[in-house]
Amino acid sequence: MQSTNPATERPVREYESHSDGDIDEALERATTAFEDWRARPIEERQTKLGDVATVLRENAEEYARLITTEMGKPIAEARSEVEKCAWVCEYYAEHAAAHLSDERLATIPEADTKVVYEPLGAVLAVMPWNYPFWQVFRFAAPTLTAGNVGLLKHASNVPGCALAIEEIFAEAGYPEGVFTTLLVGSSDVERVLADDRVKAATLTGSEYAGRKVAETAGYHLKKTVLELGGSGPFLVLDDADLDTAVETAVTARYMNTGQSCIAAKRFIVVDDAYDEFVDRFTAAVAELTVGDPAAEETDIGPLAKGKFVDELHEQVEGSIEAGASLELGGERLDRTGHYYAPTVLADVPRSAPAACEETFGPVAAVFGVDDEREAVDLANDSRFGLGASVWTEDRDRGEQVGRQLETGSVFVNELVKSDPRVPFGGIKASGYGRELSKQGIREFVNRKTLWVQ
Ligand code: NAP
Repeated sequence: MQSTNPATERPVREYESHSDGDIDEALERATTAFEDWRARPIEERQTKLGDVATVLRENAEEYARLITTEMGKPIAEARSEVEKCAWVCEYYAEHAAAHLSDERLATIPEADTKVVYEPLGAVLAVMPWNYPFWQVFRFAAPTLTAGNVGLLKHASNVPGCALAIEEIFAEAGYPEGVFTTLLVGSSDVERVLADDRVKAATLTGSEYAGRKVAETAGYHLKKTVLELGGSGPFLVLDDADLDTAVETAVTARYMNTGQSCIAAKRFIVVDDAYDEFVDRFTAAVAELTVGDPAAEETDIGPLAKGKFVDELHEQVEGSIEAGASLELGGERLDRTGHYYAPTVLADVPRSAPAACEETFGPVAAVFGVDDEREAVDLANDSRFGLGASVWTEDRDRGEQVGRQLETGSVFVNELVKSDPRVPFGGIKASGYGRELSKQGIREFVNRKTLWVQ
């Protein structure tokens, strides 16, 4: 397995993939570890998770540099990612026991009836490269603290991150086998998931990979959570505060160089505000600094792989052919590294690739609509349903619009974000299940009914 720096296109390091024998040993260790780990008091598992936060903070700079080197995230954002991982650990270190405490059912007067939450065993996590630390900790912090053990199959371009995360759990004192990184390719996932020692799986990634994992898990009757793609709408209503809306829109689309599932990708702007929004948004995007992701001032780095530049450019060209107007960018940058110019497309027709497909890079699509009703209709005209953002000075109106949107979350006057305190997940082709908060820690558990007469 090879990691390559997307800013320089130079190889960083080679790693030996795990053999069939290595995988078998890892599954055996995980199975043994589960028996001991699940029996420990949850308070002990919470304390260990707090120790993970400490390790993350102590070595934050090293991890941030590793992220930047392997997948090209601007360094300031990489630091924030590591800090957010520490936050999710602290969140569950404080709340896990309360989220999993027995629930007495008052509806049965003749018996003592409750729901108790018990771990399932080894959970396989198939993870993407775009937030190579955060996606893993978002899964691991609740899932391990609930008493499960974790097996990580990380994206093949971030093996250094995958091994560093395994090391973090070891350094925090987790017993061997509670968190294991498997350095394997996507073709090994089916076999690992089919193994009786693996009880469930979570995948964060593309729709295609999600379908594959769901297919295997379905055949073997194993629980899955799928966090897939998104084409998030960002609705700007006629009474929106444009100063804040424009500023937030830029962050919502261009953070992580546009490679985020929850990034706002379709800007749906009501007629009265349309021209001003396009002008101000385009001017703000033109101010972004494109450059070496290791430099402090960089806002936009390279895309993680060369092929992503080609795919994105095809979507941009296809959208222009369909009738969109190019306001900014629209080209590869003539420099070493997988760079694509920050791009703004306006007057995008509903049939354009930028309207129908997920664009995974620094490309915004702006749509003009007559009124709120058309804005909602266009927002829902998508195969995806991850997150939506609504901008209006009237909070009640924002909530009413939010209730009509077909997405797993809606944020009014805020960008869509994942926050340990609130559930995160999608509907439609964006997947199913929830991560984070109380709902996330209850995904990989047996919700056992206990009836005592
Ligand atoms: P990807 O190609 O689907 O890869 C994600 C993971 O799935 C990687 O570990 C990959 O392994 C593995 N994989 C790929 N094909 C597979 C298969 N046939 N069977 C089993 N595993 C397979 O996605 P990506 O390009 O890394 O990430 C971008 C996508 O992830 C976007 O669609 C984005 O929206 C989505 N995403 C969603 C969320 C969310 O929370 N909803 C968050 C982040 C990203 P290899 O690397 O070895 O191929």
